[in-house]
Amino acid sequence: MKKLPFLLVIVFIIWSCREKVKESAAEQASQSEEVVQDSVIPEASKPLPSLDVVSDTTFIRLADFSEDFAYELRYATENNFLKTKVYDCAECYTRSKTAKALIAANNIFKEKGFRIRFFDCYRPNSVQYKMWEIFPNPQYVADPVKGSIHNKGGAVDITLETLDGIALNMGTDFDYFGREAHHDHLQLPDEVLRNRALLKEVMEAHGFWSIRTEWWHYNLGAATNDPVANFKWTCP
Ligand SMILES: [Zn+2]
Repeated sequence: MKKLPFLLVIVFIIWSCREKVKESAAEQASQSEEVVQDSVIPEASKPLPSLDVVSDTTFIRLADFSEDFAYELRYATENNFLKTKVYDCAECYTRSKTAKALIAANNIFKEKGFRIRFFDCYRPNSVQYKMWEIFPNPQYVADPVKGSIHNKGGAVDITLETLDGIALNMGTDFDYFGREAHHDHLQLPDEVLRNRALLKEVMEAHGFWSIRTEWWHYNLGAATNDPVANFKWTCP
């Protein structure tokens, strides 16, 4: 009977050693996961992957192919006209051909000391339904049955900022639905007209066309006949 406490101590020592082994195995596994994750993030010294090897209609994450853009993805926040977050997380995906045209346009902006800042990129069709449910007005939200060019991966909502991150004055905020946001509304300060003209000229020279009522919206002509998509990006 005297041996029982001694046996209990032995059992406890064996058990705690096993737990330690498990802990260190788990630690090693998480370290190796980190290594795998690190290896897919492009390092500054390594060249970014090329879009030339990707088919034109493939959806790509823009940040994987260029580090020269800025992002303020409003629908992943409550700071938008819906006052509701409709994306689980902020990501900017487009079809590969849209990305190529955006990178070329951004190179021209960079030469002038600016860069593109995104408000919205590809939008899954299911999110279009969500937006339509909140705001069923075809003047502001495209009917999800027909789909928006955002749902095709061919439309972007953008502005310009300096390379220090200061947004250019475009006269109104993004998603301001009034005359002041229209391209043909010219009763605006010269600076605003100049900024809008710069954005429009460079985008049009790279295959995009604008819509009359939204200074921030650009459609890639070559993507307008692509099918509506509902691919959803993963969030952490
Ligand atoms: Zn748009």
